[in-house]
Amino acid sequence: MGTIEVVLGDITTENVDAIVTAANESLMGGGGVDRAVHSAAGPQLAEAGAAIAPCEPGDAMATPAFNLDPPVKHVIHTVGPVWDGGAHGEAETLSSCYRRCLEVADELNVRTIAFPAVATGIYGFPHRQAAQVAVETIRATRTDVEHVRLVAFDQENYDALAAALAAPV
Ligand code: ADP
Repeated sequence: MGTIEVVLGDITTENVDAIVTAANESLMGGGGVDRAVHSAAGPQLAEAGAAIAPCEPGDAMATPAFNLDPPVKHVIHTVGPVWDGGAHGEAETLSSCYRRCLEVADELNVRTIAFPAVATGIYGFPHRQAAQVAVETIRATRTDVEHVRLVAFDQENYDALAAALAAPV
């Protein structure tokens, strides 16, 4: 694993090879970050998603990035766990999201990737715990990806991700 960085911003404007979206199983577009990604990529994204759906929670699938600006070439769609108190495998499913995204990225020769804080919006996963899962999983995954950018859309997620990144390995 290369470098991990935390930034505050809108993932649709990141200049990376691939951006990850927090999708739902239909891959046809949802709310939150998925709405922003679909609106930036254009209607072909939903068509391409529908053609490969469904995507199970914890899994990831790639499509082209369509109208997203270069250098973004791929959108990697992952489906997070719906938070249900924490004793229903939510952390394992979220960890699987990050691992599978990196595996799919490797298959596509992606070197730089941006992740949103998967599952911390509509799906309700607590920010601090989600940030720990994200950082620990990325660190533990063997990958050829050289740079991972964790994109927080709000200060609370930024702080949670920065704290997880700063914690001793
Ligand atoms: P989920 O359904 O997996 O919870 P959401 O899209 O509701 O997905 O939320 C995931 C995270 O993405 C939330 O922390 C939300 O604030 C964030 N988010 C929303 N829009 C954007 C965006 N344009 N760029 C990056 N992150 C975003």
